Amino acid sequence: MNFHDEKELEQYLIRQFEWFHRHPELSYEEVETTAKIRELLTEAGIEVVPYPLETGLVAVVHGEKEAESGPERTIALRCDIDALPITEQAEIPYASETKGKMHACGHDFHIMAGIGTALLLKERSKEWSGTVKFIFQPGEEDAHGALKVLEADVMDDVERIWGLHADPTNAAGVIGIREGYVTAAVDRFVIRVKGVGCHAAHPDDGVDPILAASAVIQGLHSIISRNINAFHPALLSVTRVQAGTTWNVIPAEAELEGTVRTMNREDRILYEKRVHETAERIAAAYGAEAEVEWIFGAPATYNDGRMARLCEKIARIQGMETVPEEDSLGGDDFSYYEDKDTMGRDIPGCYLKIGTGVGRPIHHPAFCVDERVILPAAKYLAEVLMADIGGNC
Ligand SMILES: [Zn+2]
Ligand SMILES: [Zn+2]
Repeated sequence: MNFHDEKELEQYLIRQFEWFHRHPELSYEEVETTAKIRELLTEAGIEVVPYPLETGLVAVVHGEKEAESGPERTIALRCDIDALPITEQAEIPYASETKGKMHACGHDFHIMAGIGTALLLKERSKEWSGTVKFIFQPGEEDAHGALKVLEADVMDDVERIWGLHADPTNAAGVIGIREGYVTAAVDRFVIRVKGVGCHAAHPDDGVDPILAASAVIQGLHSIISRNINAFHPALLSVTRVQAGTTWNVIPAEAELEGTVRTMNREDRILYEKRVHETAERIAAAYGAEAEVEWIFGAPATYNDGRMARLCEKIARIQGMETVPEEDSLGGDDFSYYEDKDTMGRDIPGCYLKIGTGVGRPIHHPAFCVDERVILPAAKYLAEVLMADIGGNC
């Protein structure tokens, strides 16, 4: 596929972006999305590697320049592709055609920024050596899609991993980048508080699990202020409380659910321990019993210093503005790709934000992306990947 000029390439990227926006698919249902990505890449002569993935796919672009020193490297760019169960309210001519589904996290932008990058790298293949893998990942919103990619052994030969995210807090084309932790570890807990059911008028005949559970909630919120280093970002939210069926019966059980977000590994371990202790001992003080289920989610994402500095350097050369990447205790399963516990080895990673025009936050029904940022994002990412694989940073 040949584009006569940048304008033609830009129009193509925008047209395809609008197609993806009109056709959102939820986590692990990205069948049409995957087929369309495959079609666009194949049309452009880009190789799709047959990894065993039900949805999502992996493509590779090879540089044709002779390597200056050492063996040829393989690096990867991850673009997530799934949408959210939200009914779109954005007033745009290419709004979602499926009620109840919407690209409200900008993953349609990630797809086209990724495809645009692949096109540019292929066009300039004589300028660089090595291999760039493009991971079009399913199920990010489910928080475990990355694990499906990893199970398919996609990362076996990858030395460094890059990721991007749309950022509606910044003007189009502003790059958010910073060394260090940029997304949190996302863990989940369920606490079952077991008491003894009885008549509401005779609480002395039973053990009230609701009162015990409310004390447990108070206790859980003290962990951050009394156990975690005040300079470490962390939080706990109880997000579901369930108990009882009617007004005159004290139920036998209450259930709590929530999430813990941490940046530091030690805090994550400490939190798990303290949630167990706090729930179990407070419940015991009320004569009840607490059973804690702790579900580890994606770890925190750490931006490698060298890679973050490279992003800043390329932005400077390209005349793009950079800002320190915003602190967030949100999570992204991108972190699995660089996690030693998951991967068995250290893989430096970098997850940067690309301003998509100031507007509604991600996951909002009126979230939208300024389409004019797609080509600059692809050009920027192509430069960053070429500089990274060339090792000249
Ligand atoms: Zn999202
Ligand atoms: Zn997202």
